Formats: sequence, structure tokens, C-alpha cells
Amino acid sequence: MQQQNNEPIVNLISKPENMLKTVYTACRTCYSADYPINIYNSTDDTEKMLKLIERVISSGHYSTIEHIQVSFAIANVSRACTHQLVRHRHMSFSQKSQRYVKEKGQFDYIIPPTIERNEELKSEFVDFMGKISEQYQKFVEAGIPAEDARFVLPNAAASSMVASLNLREMIHLANLRLCTRAQYEIRLLVKKMCDALIAEEPWLKPYLVPKCERLGFCDEDKSCGRKPTKAALINA
Ligand SMILES: Cc1cc2nc3c(=O)[nH]c(=O)nc-3n(C[C@H](O)[C@H](O)[C@H](O)COP(=O)(O)OP(=O)(O)OC[C@H]3O[C@@H](n4cnc5c(N)ncnc54)[C@H](O)[C@@H]3O)c2cc1C
Repeated sequence: MQQQNNEPIVNLISKPENMLKTVYTACRTCYSADYPINIYNSTDDTEKMLKLIERVISSGHYSTIEHIQVSFAIANVSRACTHQLVRHRHMSFSQKSQRYVKEKGQFDYIIPPTIERNEELKSEFVDFMGKISEQYQKFVEAGIPAEDARFVLPNAAASSMVASLNLREMIHLANLRLCTRAQYEIRLLVKKMCDALIAEEPWLKPYLVPKCERLGFCDEDKSCGRKPTKAALINA
């Protein structure tokens, strides 16, 4: 696959139809004598649904948002980025295999913006990727299996995957990876995932934010200053 540009390509490929109603029904069922199906069928008041959902999520009753599963088609991200994403243990992944898919010719790779901006370093980076590719091809042509030839491929090598997760994990992912302390590429990837979901479910916007937005303070060692630090709040 020819590389399109230097940014993650993200598409939301699957989500439940009645997401808001499903979450509301899960929340309401906890406090109602009525059958869940009656709650589901009798509810159409968006404001009422959102109010209850916010109350329940703010109280930390997160099981209510685990009923929603979403899937994304992700491409043009570095192996450095996917390595970080797969650390999230409540996500499911199917990633392009470097064992089964042989690189033919120059492999696609991601250039970080700090290198992209510097003409001289960018040129050295591109040359270096070319040299790695030559060595990889040499191994493959000598009969080395792709699963061993790939040992020379860099963190920059582009990858693709289908990633699925429930809404609880999606919010957690956003809270951690939209933080300015997260690495630029995973931040961009998660931002695109959030934007794609918010485009179809705008009510999720207040939840798919960096953790400081929900907490009201920053709990990181090095704060970007967007919110007061936890220490500053305690001292005050
Ligand atoms: C800015 C930043 C810097 C990082 N730097 C490093 C680094 O230098 N080195 C490094 O190795 N990693 C690093 N990480 C990765 C980090 O340590 C986590 O592995 C990753 O963010 C996944 O987070 P998580 O465990 O909360 O989420 P998930 O795996 O998505 O889990 C979600 C939640 O489920 C619960 N949970 C899941 N599994 C367990 C379990 N086994 N036991 C108890 N509770 C569980 C926890 O409450 C957890 O928060 C970094 C992450 C960020 C955002």
C-alpha cells in the first residue's frame, strides 16, 4: 500500500445504532422497578437521558457504559504508536502481520514532525529508511523468512489495524492519550478516533477529553498548565 501522508488514517467502522438509549437504559435499570425493555421503548427525552448518564458516570458507575462497543479501521501509524496503543488491555486488536505480509520495495514509514521540519535531518532519515529497506530485501531474497527479516524494520515502519473497545475504555483512552503528556502520534490517533465517534454521537464530546477536563485538575508530574495541579489545589 502506497503511503498517503504522514498522519494516522482513522475510520469508525462499527458502532451500535441506539447508543444513547442503550446507555440510558443501563443507567435507569439500576434505579427502576420497570423492565429494561419498557424503559428502552418509552424513552425519547434526550435531555433527561443525558442528565442521568452524566450523574451515573460522574459517580463512577462505569459498568453502565461497557455495553457499547465501537470499532475503528486504523492505518498509516508507526509501530512505535501501535506499540503504545496495544498497552490498553481492554481493547481488541487485529494488526497487519510483519510475519505474513512481506514488504515489497520500500516499506511505508512515518516521519515525526520534529524531523520532517528539518530538511537536512529529514533527508538523512529518508536515506536511512532506504538502507534498511535494501537490507530487508537482501534478507528476503536470500530466503530468510519475513518473520526474521523484519528484525531490521524500525519503529517508524507504518502499520494498520482494526481496533475495538467499549465506551468505558474509549473514555479512559481519551482521558490518558489526549493529555499533552502523551506522545504526539498516539495523541493525534486518539484525537481522530474521538472526532470520528463524536461526529456520529455528539453527546460524547464532554467525556472524550483529556483527564484534567474531567478531574478539574492535573495529576501529572509535569503539567502543561491547562488546569491547576493537584498539589496546587491541595495547598490552596
Ligand atoms: C503519558 C504516558 C506515558 C507513559 N509512559 C510509559 C513508560 O514510560 N513505560 C511504560 O511501560 N508505559 C508507559 N505508559 C503506558 C502506561 O503505563 C499504561 O500501560 C497505558 O497507558 C495503559 O493504561 P492503563 O493501564 O490505565 O489502561 P488499560 O490497560 O486500558 O486498562 C484500563 C484500566 O483497567 C484497569 N486494569 C487493567 N488491567 C489491570 C490489572 N492487571 N490490574 C488492575 N487493574 C487493571 C486499570 O484501572 C486501568 O487503568 C505511558 C502512558 C502514558 C499515557
